[in-house]
Amino acid sequence: MRKFIFGALVLLTACTATQQATVNPTGQSVQVDGKLFTTVFQQKAAEYRALCFQAYNIARLRLDNYKRSSQKPLAIITDLDETLLDNSKYQAAQCLINKDYDSESWAKWTARAEADTLPGAVSFFKYAASRGVEIYYITNRNETERQNTMANLRKFGLPNTDDAHLMPRSTTSSKEERRQKVLADHEIVMLLGDNLADFSALFDKKPFSEREKNTNISQADFGSRFIVLPNSVYGDWESVLYNYNYKLTPAQKDSVLKAVLVK
Ligand SMILES: [Mg+2]
Repeated sequence: MRKFIFGALVLLTACTATQQATVNPTGQSVQVDGKLFTTVFQQKAAEYRALCFQAYNIARLRLDNYKRSSQKPLAIITDLDETLLDNSKYQAAQCLINKDYDSESWAKWTARAEADTLPGAVSFFKYAASRGVEIYYITNRNETERQNTMANLRKFGLPNTDDAHLMPRSTTSSKEERRQKVLADHEIVMLLGDNLADFSALFDKKPFSEREKNTNISQADFGSRFIVLPNSVYGDWESVLYNYNYKLTPAQKDSVLKAVLVK
């Protein structure tokens, strides 16, 4: 497996991506078509729905059994996209025009403030608030998307939808600094996310082997301090395969995907 990834990364280093990375001119791409398939899973599989319920049921159980260790106010930190908000309509629209994510179309989507929520999410966060826990929304949506994101959250009556509790990305995609800000004057009950970097800097833009190693190290935290939501459409799990090079062409991505398969 590692040999294949290494080989793929060497191939990528040699490639210079001059083509617009997100457009797939031929209309045939393992990567884009793969996203169509996994988007159908997100939208239509009762199993996806069950996984979301499972995550939020565990979160509620953990909250009910939580023993505080300080007098600081309690807080829960959550990611937004594919943790609380469901952007599968955006992904579906992109797939149907043979494109992956791009920042321009994404900004148009978030401006509409029409994302749905994941099953179980809204009732959990309302329940946590009813137990006196503050909710902090740490998202890598841009600061420019703050107002529309806030509007989207308010449509569902989510708690703590104010500027202090919504923390978009300003300088870095790492969420560590923002987590530390919350931690400075709160006791963190748990964190929720669909991407491992939502939980710890151990997972910030790390190579494949370190992601795997640090996941093993953190084994006891999953389902405990860390509540993971499923996302097979996108995330660092995919980006790491491309060595976090976001400018590859669909053909280059396809080569990597085929090279990393365990045969
Ligand atoms: Mg997310």
